[in-house]
Order: sequence, then structure tokens, then C-alpha cells
Amino acid sequence: MAVSKNDTRVTQSGVVIRNDAGLGGMLGFTQYSGLVYAIAQDDAQGVLNWLDRKQEHPSAQIYISTLGMGWSIPQLKPVYPIPQLLPDTRSWSVVPSPDKPILVNWFITGRCPLACKYCYAEDLMRKEDLEPTAAQISETAETILSLSPVVVVLTGGDPLFSPHIATAMRSLTGRVGIIVDTSGYTMRDHHMRLFAEHGVSIRISIDSQVPRINDAQRPVSSLYPKLVSRGHALDAAMEALCRCLDAGLNVTVQTVATKRTANDLVPLGDTLFRLGVHSWRIFKVAPSQASLSGYQRLVGTHTDDGRAYKGKRAKGPYEHAFAQVLLARAAQWKNQLAIQVTYNESPNSVVLVSPDGRFVTESNTGKGKVLLDNLHPKLPRLSAVRSVVDMSGHAARYLNLTTPFERANS
Ligand code: SF4
Repeated sequence: MAVSKNDTRVTQSGVVIRNDAGLGGMLGFTQYSGLVYAIAQDDAQGVLNWLDRKQEHPSAQIYISTLGMGWSIPQLKPVYPIPQLLPDTRSWSVVPSPDKPILVNWFITGRCPLACKYCYAEDLMRKEDLEPTAAQISETAETILSLSPVVVVLTGGDPLFSPHIATAMRSLTGRVGIIVDTSGYTMRDHHMRLFAEHGVSIRISIDSQVPRINDAQRPVSSLYPKLVSRGHALDAAMEALCRCLDAGLNVTVQTVATKRTANDLVPLGDTLFRLGVHSWRIFKVAPSQASLSGYQRLVGTHTDDGRAYKGKRAKGPYEHAFAQVLLARAAQWKNQLAIQVTYNESPNSVVLVSPDGRFVTESNTGKGKVLLDNLHPKLPRLSAVRSVVDMSGHAARYLNLTTPFERANS
């Protein structure tokens, strides 16, 4: 059962757009920052004409400084408003709730060279009988596109470990924004050529600039003894990051914040800023049924010696650490560093596609992944998607509407 026609399209400028009645405006994704913006209804037609190069200017400068990256302005002069509501938050009276998913995370493989302690995807991974064929990849791509997301994230496992990454990109290119999530551990020249050819935004995972901490959280999997001899995760990730930056590719660093890394976030931000990174995504480790004990140990509400966090830190180390990051941005990095903080407080706000093509989300009762449509697991109806996924939480996640940010920017 097809869900709808794909009404996402790539404009003449390369910016991907979709109108959304539920949102009350238009969504726009640019590969240069890897960010999605919501564009107020009153401005949408003018912005669309500008993106299609039919009009010289949009109605406000902020559109040029955000969606104009890479084609309308030199790439190094963008600004990164938080939240990603344009032209400004005053134009949006409520948290928008889109009719259709903004972003779909597609696990094109369950294979991964790492075995992170917190792996949110472990329950979808390392099952060889679920690995898709090239034909299945093409079929799943069409189903995803029928939901009209603005962005598809190729993830896993590590998508660079899939023999079908090029097939997946070819199926999506020119029809939707593409992001690739990777540890960078096995990044090679042919991957970089693919990223450039398909206008991909790359997100590389680095949790800490301290090797002992990063590599303890992100050890190399013992399933691949030959790979282990290549070295540790941090060295590989930094090398992949620098190669992407040198090649002028669009790269975001993403960091999973845990008790161990929370205090190291600001120094890490400094290092990334000095390296020339313009986009940093930080998120709280997500609970998954397969790694619940690891999650509790890494997030926890207790210190390592068993004492409960008290007072302002009762929720653990996150709020304080994230506030420090925001202060550092305001004082040092300013608008030259886009920062997204994802709290993962609404686990059912994501749309995930498993390697075998089933559409799922994280259960909000701690039961692991749940199907979006029990009757049509691989071809979900939009009505079923909307009834299972928290669409407001979905918008909040991808438009950077997080409580601490709201406070920091008020
Ligand atoms: S790199 Fe990602 S998929 Fe692989 S083990 Fe780590 S968290 Fe899981």
C-alpha cells in the first residue's frame, strides 16, 4: 500500500524543499550545513522563487545566510540560528507538527567495525540474515521516498561497511537530501568520491578528544581482528575528518555525550572549531533494549561511586555540560559553529528503517524498537506513521527546538 506521492523536490539551487500543511510552512535542507530549516508560510513562495533562481532576493537576509550557503554566498559566511525556525522564532507561535516525516534514518547494514558501549542500534545489528541485497536496497529507497522526507540519513551499523552504499545513494540522489553517518573507521578514497558526486553531508562520530575516553566508549569490534590492527577509533575518526575538510566536503561532527565525556565537551568544541568544523551535533545517548544496562551506566542519575546526583544536577551531568557548551558558543565560536543538541527525551520521535526494510521507532515504554505499521511493516501507511511517531517531538529534534537552547537564547 503506497502512502503518498513524493512531494519533496530539489530546487535549482540544490536546496531540498517540501511544503507541509501541518507545519504551516515549508521545510528546506541544505547539504552544506546538513541542517533542516522551517520557513514561515508568508515567506515560503518568495523563498521558493529565490531557491529556483526566479527571483534575485528572498524577503529577509536570514534566508541568504542560512539556505544560501554554497551557492548564494561564500561558504564561510553563514549564520546558524537556533532553533532552525525562519525568519525568526517570533514568526512561529507553536512548536510545529509536520504532516510527514522530516528525516528518516535508514540502517542500510547491520555491520559495523566498532562496538560502542552505548550502541543505540545493537538490536538492529549483526544479523547476517537481515542484510539486504542491492534489489532490496532500491525497493526500500522507493518506499522511503513515498513518505516524502526532506532528508534520508544512511546509517547502520556503519554504511561504509555496506557493499550497497552506492546503490542507496543512486536511488536517492536528486530526490531528497542525503546524510551519511559514519565512524570514519573504514573511510577510503572511493567513499569520498561518492560523497562529492552525490552532494552528501557527512557526519563523523567523535565523542572525546581524549583517546583513553573516546576509545573506551568506542572500541573496535573483536569481530574484525584484522581491522583492530589499524588502530583506535579516535585516530581514524580524526584522520577521516581532516581528509573530508581538506577535500571541501560538507562535514558535521557528532558526539554522544555520556557521564565520561560531558566535562570534555567544551575543549572538544574548541578543537573542532580550530580545525575548521562548522557543524557539531551533540546528543544524549539513546536507550535501546539491547544495551539498557550500558545506557544506565553511561547516563545514570548516580555517580560512579553510587551517590545520587543532587539539586541542580539531579538529572545527571547533561544539563550543566550542555549549558557550558552554549555559553562557549556565545562567547567564542558564535555564529561560525552550528550546534545541535538532541536530548532524546521523546524516544518515539524518530523514523528508522531496519536493514531488512521494516519501518520502526524507539518504544516510549522501553520495549526496544516497535513497528510503525503492524499490517504493512515494510510499506507503512502515513496514518500509521503519524499515530505511532510523536510528530511534535520529531520536529523539535530536527529543527533544534530543545529546552536548554530556548532558555539560552531567550
Ligand atoms: S559506530 Fe554506531 S552503529 Fe557502530 S557500534 Fe558505534 S554506535 Fe553502534
